Amino acid sequence: MAEVTASGGIFETTLVLTCVDFRVNPDLFLQTKPQVADIEDQILVARNPAGRVDAAFVQEIMLFEAFLGLKSVLVIHHTGKYLSLNCGASHFKDTEIHKFHKNRLPNHSEIDQMIFGAFNNLEESVRQDIHILKTSPYIPKNLADNCHGFVYDIQTGGLTPVE
Ligand SMILES: [Zn+2]
Repeated sequence: MAEVTASGGIFETTLVLTCVDFRVNPDLFLQTKPQVADIEDQILVARNPAGRVDAAFVQEIMLFEAFLGLKSVLVIHHTGKYLSLNCGASHFKDTEIHKFHKNRLPNHSEIDQMIFGAFNNLEESVRQDIHILKTSPYIPKNLADNCHGFVYDIQTGGLTPVE
């Protein structure tokens, strides 16, 4: 383990964060395939609702950074051409989720502080998440420079960088 850490990891790995939506298939749009012979460029996929960067994801990066060494991190949120195809996280507000659970658990005021990742503006949600990564004290500068955001269009299959 000490050797792995000292050398910055044994593999060059890209970590992708995207939505749990079943229509979002990173293996297809990133054209990944089993790389038995070439394990030096591997892609790990992390998912949560909407693909939002949160404290748990930053910890995932820290874990992989220690064990593998990461080459880059890609944050990919998604849309669709029509409203019904958009990411579910753009259909609700965090305050609505707070209200739902506060009705069940009225004594748990801490629910109001919980962040569920709802967003109004797709590109802006990607920018916010990349900003979190680039300013995190836990992410090394060389990796922060290689954190990139994208929007995946499930209608066209297109992947568009978000600057
Ligand atoms: Zn989604």
